[in-house]
Amino acid sequence: MSRGTAKTLFEKVWEQHVVAQPAGEPTLLYIDLHLVHEVTSPQAFEGLRLAGRSVRRPERHIATVDHNVPTTSVQDRLLIADQISAKQVDALRRNCTEFGIELFDVQAAEQGIVHMIGPELGATKPGMTIVCGDSHTSTHGAFGALAFGIGTSEVEHVMATQTLPQDKPKTFRINVEGDLPYGVTAKDLILDIIGRIGTDGATGYVVEYAGSTIRALSMEGRMTICNMSIEAGARAGMMAPDETTFAYLRGRRFAPAGPLHNAASAEGASVARKGVIALDDIPAAATHADAWENAVAHWRTLVTDEGAIFDREMTIDATKLAPRVTWGTSPGMVTGIDDVVPSIEDALSDADRKSFARALEYMDLTPGTKVTDIRVDAVFLGSCTNARIEDLRAAAKVVSGHHVATTVRAMVVPGSQQVKAQAEREGLATIFTTAGFEWREPGCSMCLGMNPDILQPGERCASTSNRNFEGRQGRGGRTHLVSPVMAAAAAITGRLTDVRTWKFEGEGTAFEPEQVLVQGGPR
Ligand code: SF4
Repeated sequence: MSRGTAKTLFEKVWEQHVVAQPAGEPTLLYIDLHLVHEVTSPQAFEGLRLAGRSVRRPERHIATVDHNVPTTSVQDRLLIADQISAKQVDALRRNCTEFGIELFDVQAAEQGIVHMIGPELGATKPGMTIVCGDSHTSTHGAFGALAFGIGTSEVEHVMATQTLPQDKPKTFRINVEGDLPYGVTAKDLILDIIGRIGTDGATGYVVEYAGSTIRALSMEGRMTICNMSIEAGARAGMMAPDETTFAYLRGRRFAPAGPLHNAASAEGASVARKGVIALDDIPAAATHADAWENAVAHWRTLVTDEGAIFDREMTIDATKLAPRVTWGTSPGMVTGIDDVVPSIEDALSDADRKSFARALEYMDLTPGTKVTDIRVDAVFLGSCTNARIEDLRAAAKVVSGHHVATTVRAMVVPGSQQVKAQAEREGLATIFTTAGFEWREPGCSMCLGMNPDILQPGERCASTSNRNFEGRQGRGGRTHLVSPVMAAAAAITGRLTDVRTWKFEGEGTAFEPEQVLVQGGPR
């Protein structure tokens, strides 16, 4: 179908990456950046080895260890007790050396969850195509990139050819308008969206988030939303880059005019090869100073044109939202913190009634129970959804002056070494540890039951992560997805808590709550 000359953000990025469009076959897309981690890459490297192939453009791949590295201590990470995890991490080290890919290993200052370090390094940039063997690659769409998760065989294809065959998805714009109310964060917004459209509501689509609420969010808040696009079934989530995006990227390591862009700098001279990531995404720059301006000029074109047609659109009034909590075993089983556990009769179809019944049984919940009466045994503040510095700052404000309930095991797992170091410089780590939280090394940790941080059967957890299906955080574990401030409050009270009623240390004098609780609000 012809759509005229007006194009969506997605269509612009897609068209700029088409290598070939064979009739009756998927489009072959050029891939700008591939993010690698220890779990989904070993077979792909082995496939290359068996075929006698090399990685076509090693400078377009960045690797880190995150999924199964222990977060308990530096020593535990250097000598991993679990044999499968140790083998995978060792394999990644060998593979990166053999195939010439830069690896941010456990001791590197840049190590962290793969979706944290791409943006932190400035490797994630507007207009790029980005892939990774992890579903939550959608995170990078917050920068106006087309970013999506791929399987192991696709990982091998990207390594060998720097391309990927893809069927073109449809487009879905979600407009969010108005100011987020007090205590409502980007996490609540995306949980609300998934609750409205369902976990398959965006299947087959790339979602563009637009509107005044989205534009008012920080990059951290935007990443939280794009991160969970996959939980609504979307191929990817995207947001138009703007001044907030440019301010975030400026000066970062792989950003245009960043340290690696300046071949005259000591670091740039020694690792100039990796500067390619910055250099050839944008029109050639005559000088170092021009590079940034050229990049921003290009990035400003990456917006949906007036009159562009989407396959589906919806609009949400952000001013009516309340903090959200999942009660069941999918991110779409979500309700307000001031609501009650739903009953099977609330389900809209026979299939939903079955899954409601199963979820209530697994979660050991009785319909009609007030959400704020649900006790928790554990609190996990971490993951690529909500372990950025802004998340930790907001949670620390809630925690400050309080102590973790004696019935609760609470941990903070910074998403990256950079976040950890920043939080320690700002005194946040001290606030958390004084309150009784464990302060961990960066990694995926309790987001998934693939490393030592797991729930015991029957344990109930308030978690800032993105998935709550059966056994996600450990066999028999029960997960309630919440925002960082809600997780922090639950750790203190020992039950799911409406953070809008929270009594802050020095309330009314030390700080203004509006500046504390609204993740992604104006800085
Ligand atoms: S934190 Fe969770 S969702 Fe994110 S990359 Fe790790 S395992 Fe995947």
